[in-house]
Amino acid sequence: MKNVIAIDGPSGAGKSTVAKLLSKELGFDYLDTGALYRAVALGLTKGGIDENASDDGIAAALEDIRVEFRDNRVLLNGTDVSHDIRSPEASHFASVFSARRPVRAYLLGIQRDAAMHADLVAEGRDMTTVVFPEACAKFYLDASVGERTRRRTLELSSRGFEADEDRIRLDITERDIRDSRRALAPLRKADDAHFIDSTGLAVEEVFEKIIGIIREDAKDRPE
Ligand code: C5P
Repeated sequence: MKNVIAIDGPSGAGKSTVAKLLSKELGFDYLDTGALYRAVALGLTKGGIDENASDDGIAAALEDIRVEFRDNRVLLNGTDVSHDIRSPEASHFASVFSARRPVRAYLLGIQRDAAMHADLVAEGRDMTTVVFPEACAKFYLDASVGERTRRRTLELSSRGFEADEDRIRLDITERDIRDSRRALAPLRKADDAHFIDSTGLAVEEVFEKIIGIIREDAKDRPE
């Protein structure tokens, strides 16, 4: 495995923006694992799989699904679905299907593979705990629900989706509960992850904090 910077946290904590800045600064590839879960969920729903499907049904449907994350774009069976996966419905189904064993098993290999070929800044819910426990730097990014709701509302409206703040707050809270209470790879802070609260901080401030920690840690590491 190459060098991995692993970042976890709930929706709207600012992971993607800061991970992209870090990847640029360090010359690492960027891996948005939420995008992979979203694309798989889209593939499953398009294939007629619903929330009550059995694990066997999901596993069979996954045989016809191929997802890739390349140059900041997400491909589902070769088609660019980068826009479609950002809808509120796609968020919901990503959260629902990501709790299912065949989906997590399917994406585990794809995520680890990405770190075989290039240094990586990887962000998601279980980067620090399950996928890359050996990462060279680990961060858990969080922010208040109010601030995360505001960020998600801005993000959705800038992408052209309907963005009702009350609905988005509800969706964020629901996903927080589902992602942190599920049995498989729940969202939690790894013991050795640095906790960063981005509430009230500008992106640049979060970036400076994280890059500062990475540089400090690198000094302490043996050659
Ligand atoms: O990060 P994003 O909001 O795009 O992720 C969408 C959903 O995918 C999350 O709500 C979560 O349920 C799931 N996910 C996950 N593990 C990851 C990344 C995302 O379970 N590593």
